[in-house]
Amino acid sequence: MSRGLEAAARVSAHRHGDYRTGRGELRRALLALFEGSLKFQERMSGSVWAERFGWIPKGTGAEHGKVTLYGYQRGLVDLMCDPAVPLLTVLKAARVGYTRCATLAVGYHLHQDPTLCAIAQPTIPDADDFGSGEIAPMLRDTPVLKPLMRQVKKGEKQDNAAFYQLSNGASVRVVGAASDDAFRRYSARFLFADEIDGDGWTPGAKTQGDKLKLFWTRGETFWNRKQVRGSTPLLFETSRVWKLWLASDQRRYFVPCPQCSDAASQLDGWQYLDWGGPDVPHGLKWSLDAEGTLDKVWYVGTCGCIIEERHKAWMDANGEWRPTAKAKVPGHVGMHLWTGMSLNPNAAWPVIVQEWLEAQADPATLVQPFMNLRLGRPYRAIYGQEVKSSSFIDRMEPYPAEVPAGVEFITVGVDVQSGKVNPRLEASVYGWGRGLEVWLIGHFVLPGDPAKGEVWAALDEGVLLRRYRKPDGTTLDVRATCIDSGGHHTQEVYAFANKRRSRRVWAIKGRSESRGQRGKVWPRKPSSKLGHVWYMIGGNAARDWAYGSLAVDKPGPRHVHFPQAPLDGARELDDEFFAQLTREKLIVPRGQQYTVWQKPSEAHEAGVCFVYAYAAVCGLQALSGKYVKLGEADVESAPEAAGDDAGTASGEPTPADAIAAAVARARRLSQPAAAVQPMAPPPASTDKGELYL
Ligand SMILES: [Zn+2]
Repeated sequence: MSRGLEAAARVSAHRHGDYRTGRGELRRALLALFEGSLKFQERMSGSVWAERFGWIPKGTGAEHGKVTLYGYQRGLVDLMCDPAVPLLTVLKAARVGYTRCATLAVGYHLHQDPTLCAIAQPTIPDADDFGSGEIAPMLRDTPVLKPLMRQVKKGEKQDNAAFYQLSNGASVRVVGAASDDAFRRYSARFLFADEIDGDGWTPGAKTQGDKLKLFWTRGETFWNRKQVRGSTPLLFETSRVWKLWLASDQRRYFVPCPQCSDAASQLDGWQYLDWGGPDVPHGLKWSLDAEGTLDKVWYVGTCGCIIEERHKAWMDANGEWRPTAKAKVPGHVGMHLWTGMSLNPNAAWPVIVQEWLEAQADPATLVQPFMNLRLGRPYRAIYGQEVKSSSFIDRMEPYPAEVPAGVEFITVGVDVQSGKVNPRLEASVYGWGRGLEVWLIGHFVLPGDPAKGEVWAALDEGVLLRRYRKPDGTTLDVRATCIDSGGHHTQEVYAFANKRRSRRVWAIKGRSESRGQRGKVWPRKPSSKLGHVWYMIGGNAARDWAYGSLAVDKPGPRHVHFPQAPLDGARELDDEFFAQLTREKLIVPRGQQYTVWQKPSEAHEAGVCFVYAYAAVCGLQALSGKYVKLGEADVESAPEAAGDDAGTASGEPTPADAIAAAVARARRLSQPAAAVQPMAPPPASTDKGELYL
């Protein structure tokens, strides 16, 4: 008998047998199961989950408890949790609630859609902070996640700030992108890359290519892997998030106009809020009162209507995210968040405008943080390199004395030129005032072989020991001098400088800075060997500052003044001088995402002498322990007494560092840059599109 007949006989027997009832029940149960699984089950969106189950843990913000999202945040959390969106790029400002939304999206992927999650922060300390400051409190306090925390048995891996495993099979790990093994030996489907403009994401010498791509490969065993990349953008030339955002579908949060929109039409008056600025008709506008303080702030829509801040909540509640471009890769969604959208009181329109006004007091230093942190836009620095030498000539002005009244102290930068043809020393004398407004006092060319003593005596007597006269008849001496010891005459420079350390004559050398690294200009400690002492300076950061200052065209902080008439013995300021001053170029090495200053083959002594004179200012700041405030320090409180400085560099933050501290945990804003510049239009397809989808 075949097996088939045997089965048929058995079924027939059962039809009338004892199993009848049981079989009927089984059949009903199977049908119910089929129906249940075939029936369309509505997927819970991220924002619905967040507002139903999300929980703001104690100690992570001003309030705690159940989550309420703003309108624009609902769309953000939805897209972060949407399985149909494999790539999401978020270009963001501060104070928009991004970190909270990202943490909620992780919670969703642990509870609602249990999966393996990985979060990459720029550095290991950032990862530790995020793990212990955001993830651990969420797991501890969120009512639906708490029961999933597994009891760790003997011999099992203990959860720690970097890794948590839940009893439903989901897990979350937090890594630091800077670490060599951040993207090795694990799999994850939900990949969250945070602050991708941070230095930690820059490929290191040991990394095999783009770290975001390496991170993406951690999900390659999942057909539905997803990567969310977010960052406050930094510099236009090198911003990763900006480049990715340009390749996305560039969604903006469109809102109806409270004056002219007909909610039904979805067209009239719908627009996205935008900073706009003083040069365009729409955007945030303001008036000042007679004292020049901020009076009123309002918004002019692209429809021409005047919109008041009190309408913002209504607009936010009724808005929607709409694409404004075609993504280069299907499924790549981009979102832009800036502070003006937020309903947080710290993000009120007058607060933003006030910050803009304050940034105008020192545009070279403060506009970049405003662009990055408030507008969520990359900053395009301008350097003196982009200024024509004829405009420097136009800027030359008569000085009332050798040194104008605004100068509080003087530094000198010295370059050493060896060789048979024209060996010489070149020295620039600069005077510094409030906010580091700076005056060139004179540039000296001292012919002579640096291997011999005469030219050094000429430098000392003619430039460094000279006293410079102010309009009131008083004189200033040279407070500090930096001499380059990196060339052929290292020993002579050491000998000269080390004998004069009590006068703060310092031998300097450029630190080696791989991959466009920006460190502090002045080192914490001097270097020394065989009794010689010298300072390794951060050349890229010093050049960013010095050459950035050359582009500041209005008198005030960081503006550089040039005298019409040369000082006795100093060279004439002509086209060639200004060409030398701006000959070093900032370049982005081919295929890289960082900038470096490139040494030109032609003469550029005027430029490096300015950079060294600025380095001397940094040396003084480090000595005084008043690194941040120096721009405001008066002459008397500046470091007159400090005779010998070995090891006293304070390590206080630079002004740029101080701003950066306010940025995000992760990022180093190490390129203080130049003048005010509206964001340039997107470059015509510099992007090759993403290769990894
Ligand atoms: Zn309108």
